[in-house]
Amino acid sequence: MKHTTLLSATLGLPASWHVIEAHLSEEKQRIDLTITTAPGSSFKCPCCGCEAHPTDESREFWYHDNFLNLRAYLTAHVPRITCHQGCGLQRVTPPWERLGSKFRQISDKAPHEE
Ligand SMILES: [Zn+2]
Repeated sequence: MKHTTLLSATLGLPASWHVIEAHLSEEKQRIDLTITTAPGSSFKCPCCGCEAHPTDESREFWYHDNFLNLRAYLTAHVPRITCHQGCGLQRVTPPWERLGSKFRQISDKAPHEE
């Protein structure tokens, strides 16, 4: 099993989402993850629940201060869909953005520490 596959499972990602890059710094107790969605996947509209294929995506940055005892920084490519039921362009809710998740969105990519 590749370590990115293992990390996807640890994050509880469904099959359409996966970790494509992971950089661990044991010295800094930090892990940087890049998450994207599988090509061809469809996603639920957050308003009405119907499924659609992504129209585009936006890049988001997330932080968790204790993921596997590490500070974790996510760079996520979060798709947006155009809902067929008239909800318009909608951002897909990523799996880690759920009640109780310790991840919080940050405005910018964390600067690399020297
Ligand atoms: Zn909709």
